[in-house]
Amino acid sequence: MKTVERYICELCSCEYKTREDAEKCEKHHTRPIRVGLDIHYKPGINSEFHNTGIPYTVLVEMENGTLCKYLFNEVVERDIKR
Ligand SMILES: [Zn+2]
Repeated sequence: MKTVERYICELCSCEYKTREDAEKCEKHHTRPIRVGLDIHYKPGINSEFHNTGIPYTVLVEMENGTLCKYLFNEVVERDIKR
């Protein structure tokens, strides 16, 4: 019987045969550092999407200096208690 060792990137769950490759994958990911630099809403209130009141696009600055525009995809949870 052989033992098979695999290494998994903790950020994207991709599997690698070597620790070095998994570490390389983890290091190439970037994280958001500022969210909501620019926010846009769809105009109007007459459609199902518009009734949510949720921004349609949001700009996000990443730690590697990239500025990204994110589009609304779906509501994951409502009424989160803080
Ligand atoms: Zn990864």
